[in-house]
Amino acid sequence: MVLKIEHLTGGYTGIPVIKDINLEIQPGEALGIIGLNGAGKSTTIKHILGLLRPQKGKIVLNSVELIKQPTEFKRQIAYIPEVPVLYEELTLKEHLELTMMSYQLDEKKAWKRANELLKMFRLDDKLDWMPIYFSKGMKQKVMIVTAFLADTDLLVIDEPFTGLDPLAVSNLIDLIKKAVAQKKMILMSTHILADAEQAISNYAVLNNGKIEVIGSLTDIRKHYGLNESDSFDK
Ligand code: ATP
Repeated sequence: MVLKIEHLTGGYTGIPVIKDINLEIQPGEALGIIGLNGAGKSTTIKHILGLLRPQKGKIVLNSVELIKQPTEFKRQIAYIPEVPVLYEELTLKEHLELTMMSYQLDEKKAWKRANELLKMFRLDDKLDWMPIYFSKGMKQKVMIVTAFLADTDLLVIDEPFTGLDPLAVSNLIDLIKKAVAQKKMILMSTHILADAEQAISNYAVLNNGKIEVIGSLTDIRKHYGLNESDSFDK
């Protein structure tokens, strides 16, 4: 089990936004992607999700190459997007059922897991709610619940902490830690390192579409000649 990104170059038009990205995530490893606005974090994630076609390079998860077996590849990934994406005409219960179907989960086990996650995020009494009734933070929580319900080998998370209440942040951190302990792979883009570093110890720094350094926050501070108190977003 491993995610390998090799020489990935891509973007939205012919001009590359990310250039020669090389990353590897092993089972039981969580990797953060950090960098200034526009550095290419979301673009990298869109390539891993198969939403953008690479101009060069390849992405392989557990020996399945994204370009060659997209359906098989995507079934191994769950995704928590920065902006929640829900079907306006489906209830929360139907969203959960859709996840169970898409990821071919055992229904009995999946409902047990779903109920635990719903309770954790205070959504257990809202199964018949349509997305229109949910606040933005509640929609984010639905995305977290469905992603952890999918129980995939790789979980990709794009900037999750903004807009979540402190209890939800702490629950999300616990879920990431548990997933890592269960040998799952996590890739998370973030600006909020104070929260992220409770669950994630290694980070790749993107600058202008290129990886400048990969390592612990201490390694990264050393690389840039920063003090312990310095922010990376400068
Ligand atoms: P942020 O921290 O602001 O979320 P990011 O690191 O995720 O930033 P990206 O969204 O990957 O950055 O953007 C990288 C570059 O790609 C930027 O120059 C941006 O203008 C460009 N870009 C992003 N989305 C599109 C798009 N849909 N079409 C064209 N260019 C885009």
